[in-house]
Amino acid sequence: MSRVHNFTAGPCTLPTEVLEEVATELTDYAGTGMGLVEMSHRSPVYQELHTRVLQRVREISGASDEFEIILVPGGATMLFSLVPLNLLASGGKGGYMITGSWATKALADGRRAGAEVYTVWDNEGRPEMPPPDVDIEKDTRYVHITTNETIDGVRMIDFPDVDVPLVADMSSEYLARHIPWERMGLVYGGVQKNLAPAGLALVFVRRDLLDDEPLLASATNLGWYVANRSLGNTPPMFQTYLLDKMLAWLERKGGIAGLEKASQEKSSLIYDVIDHSEFYRSSVPAEIRSHTNVVFNLPDENLERKFVGDATNDGLIGLKGHRSVGGIRASLYAGLALESAATLAEWMRAFELNNH
Ligand SMILES: *Cc1c(COP(=O)(O)O)cnc(C)c1O
Repeated sequence: MSRVHNFTAGPCTLPTEVLEEVATELTDYAGTGMGLVEMSHRSPVYQELHTRVLQRVREISGASDEFEIILVPGGATMLFSLVPLNLLASGGKGGYMITGSWATKALADGRRAGAEVYTVWDNEGRPEMPPPDVDIEKDTRYVHITTNETIDGVRMIDFPDVDVPLVADMSSEYLARHIPWERMGLVYGGVQKNLAPAGLALVFVRRDLLDDEPLLASATNLGWYVANRSLGNTPPMFQTYLLDKMLAWLERKGGIAGLEKASQEKSSLIYDVIDHSEFYRSSVPAEIRSHTNVVFNLPDENLERKFVGDATNDGLIGLKGHRSVGGIRASLYAGLALESAATLAEWMRAFELNNH
């Protein structure tokens, strides 16, 4: 078997041991004579797995009983509209911290959904994070933050200090940093960066923030997911199954604390190369650099193209920056081995020597 070092931004690499375990079970799960994705989602075997996933998420996340944990098909983008539709169902406004590309999309989708949403603070494309004190408008029900901007490579260190609950999109560092539950109203993310294949969002929502009977269709009503334990319709079983495997893996790796440490270690290896070089440049101030998405530039675009091409030839793939910002991006999610980050760091030093 020959596996590449995969720095893709999402979907992304999953641990080889997890994939191998899944491969052995694909045709016969737990002695049932069928694969997990071939059985009824109402079967006792699947019900058990589903329940275990929710328990594992609760244990690893440390979410208090005030929070419901739900699985919503579709990913983080689905929540961009479902959050305002549900949390503002009986009025009020949603305030948004614009820290990069994903926050901008979350706000835009809130508008498209017809909700009353507004900008609390905007870095206007600069690699900056908001001051702790910000003013919010009257009737604001929540402030939305994007804790790690996947495309821009910036990370929010201090969450805003406001009197309303925070809503956090944590997709690209999900369960890789401590979550201050006492300040949160809703936490969400697509699972395809740290936790599973694409197609599913993991959502924590404080029960008291949900309307009893909002004017919303079933699949857009977060309360419907709560009431049906996320089994109101046929769920994305393969994603949930992989999530179970990944959560078990995460437990073995020390949970959130273990993942946080690993992300820090991996990213430090790359930032260290950048900081000791006149060749690689990061425009992100050190204190707000992402631990999962290392974004940087080379002296010019031709060198960046060569960097990506040569790396691909050497089995280091997925390093091209997002099309909207260019440059290079190395994504270092949960499933990426420390050894892959170390290999990239070594490779970058050699590339600099040969090309500067
Ligand atoms: C990847 C990502 C998204 C989009 O997730 P989908 O599941 O593709 O909708 C949203 N927010 C952030 C911060 C992301 O990194």
